[in-house]
Amino acid sequence: GRCVVAVDGPSGSGKSTVSRRLASQIDARYLDTGAMYRAITWAVLRSGVDPQDQGAVAKVAGEIELQIGVDPQTPHISADGVAVDREIRGPEVTAAVSAVSAVPAVRELLVTRQREIIAEAGRIVVEGRDIGSVVAPDADLKVYLTASADARAQRRSTEYAVDLLVTAADLARRDKFDSTRAADPLTQAADAVVLDTTELGIDEVVTQLRTLLDG
Ligand code: C5P
Repeated sequence: GRCVVAVDGPSGSGKSTVSRRLASQIDARYLDTGAMYRAITWAVLRSGVDPQDQGAVAKVAGEIELQIGVDPQTPHISADGVAVDREIRGPEVTAAVSAVSAVPAVRELLVTRQREIIAEAGRIVVEGRDIGSVVAPDADLKVYLTASADARAQRRSTEYAVDLLVTAADLARRDKFDSTRAADPLTQAADAVVLDTTELGIDEVVTQLRTLLDG
């Protein structure tokens, strides 16, 4: 039946791996909302627009067509027919995504699209920053994954094959920016279950989430 799971948390909290594995196990779809903000950012950079120029960013976002695959085994995203799965993880997009996702018109557009995808899927695990608080406040389960700054930098640096110190500095910058921006700060939902994954393996986290779902 219908089941919406909201998985929020900062980069390196284990969100993506946990969300995909949980979705596979409970036979649900999977949506990575960070990939959507990253794909818009890719389009902004490709068109030569300054990520700080909110009007120009909103225009690009309004014109770009995103195609999103929600199979947890093979998540996929295209922008105007171009597969951008690899490009959106690159340093250029990562450096500019906070500025782009701070544009209110971009958030409005993507939140609407995310709600459509959730309604169509019915059974879906959605990961992001504002899923439990803004996108799907009526989710069946809301979790907020955290981990120590060290653990998060360590995971991200392995995942993206980037130097640990560079990754740690970049995470700290994005955390600060994402949590202090004026437009729509990404606060965790008051009723989210907070899970610190610093000392937990992926399967342990998934098992805990399944217990919460069954309970
Ligand atoms: O999760 P990921 O690191 O791919 O997210 C990239 C960026 O997208 C975040 O740093 C944040 O600025 C933005 N984001 C957002 N809202 C979401 C998901 C991601 O603003 N729901």
